[in-house]
Amino acid sequence: MNAQLEQMIAESRRIVFFGGAGVSTESGIPDFRSADGLYRQDGDVSPETVLSRHYFVRYPEHFFRFYKEKMLCLTARPNAAHLRLAALEREGRLSAVITQNIDGLHQAAGSRRVLELHGSVHRNFCMDCGAPYGAEYILHNDGVPRCACGGIVKPDVVLYEEPLDSAVLDEAIGVLRNADLLIVGGTSLAVWPAASLVDFFGGDRIVLINREETRLSGRASLLITADIGETLRPTLRREGTL
Ligand code: NAD
Ligand code: ZN
Repeated sequence: MNAQLEQMIAESRRIVFFGGAGVSTESGIPDFRSADGLYRQDGDVSPETVLSRHYFVRYPEHFFRFYKEKMLCLTARPNAAHLRLAALEREGRLSAVITQNIDGLHQAAGSRRVLELHGSVHRNFCMDCGAPYGAEYILHNDGVPRCACGGIVKPDVVLYEEPLDSAVLDEAIGVLRNADLLIVGGTSLAVWPAASLVDFFGGDRIVLINREETRLSGRASLLITADIGETLRPTLRREGTL
């Protein structure tokens, strides 16, 4: 809990939250760029390469091995950050969550307007006939998951070298332009073009909640260098009355 943040939240009606992998580390899903993140782990090929379009097309079996081991965490549960953001939307204070995450934890927490810039592990489609499949189908499939028609079932996640969905981008720009408070958290702001979206924010109050400095640190009205779940956890819950 941070008194200044709570004050700013109390004064706002159109909060937009922009987040990334750091929002889900307290749920047990590793991020990419932290000390124990996926980018620091040894491997023959970098995660950026494995998660790229050309690698997926060329080495689908390697792609799916990495994806299933490192990206599919279907047992993870929402943490205090996800739950608080969902509550703020219900209270009519938050207009949207914009996320770079693909884990679906904001929706699991009850958030309704979630703009998923990089797609979701929960949507998977046959590349030939378009038939939909759930995440469990991918997880329990040995090797490359195939549709009944023989086509490869591809997760609806944006790989490196693939464009972002323009409808999602437009909607994100729209909510950012109208926001009265921007809370950015759990993101290194290093992945483009997603990170550049925060520049569309039309207001003057930015709160940054991150374990480390980012390129936005200098522009923040409030800089909170701490864990985001702990920071967003509601006061009442802390006092044990909720
Ligand atoms: P990133 O790994 O580049 O950066 C994460 C940032 O969050 C770091 O600055 C780190 O210091 C901070 N952080 C980590 N845990 C935190 C916590 N508990 N509280 C506050 N700050 C915390 O992540 P990114 O900027 O989202 O970019 C990585 C890309 O990888 C994204 O495009 C995303 O799609 C993808 N990704 C998604 C997931 C997921 O869906 N959960 C997990 C890993 C990677
Ligand atoms: Zn098919």
